[in-house]
Amino acid sequence: MIGIEGKDWRWRSGEGASVQIGLVNRNGQRCCGHRGVAGTDHGQVAYKVECTRCGHVYGANGSDMHERLCPSCQGGEAGIRFWEVPEPRR
Ligand SMILES: [Zn+2]
Repeated sequence: MIGIEGKDWRWRSGEGASVQIGLVNRNGQRCCGHRGVAGTDHGQVAYKVECTRCGHVYGANGSDMHERLCPSCQGGEAGIRFWEVPEPRR
């Protein structure tokens, strides 16, 4: 599926065992893949993460995925942006 601006908006798994779509880490945080949006850590992309305990959805760097805690119910760090906002049309 190709979305707006000709970009490919499919969710993709990352490289490495802890960033595969559907993988749940030891804290119950499920990796939902990424869309190629840069994270806040060097060389990282931002993954969509879903908490299997409370349903909270947020963004996290791939490097944090294996040990991520939910910002809503486990006192983890606040989520980062995992989507890209298109430039407004003029
Ligand atoms: Zn939670």
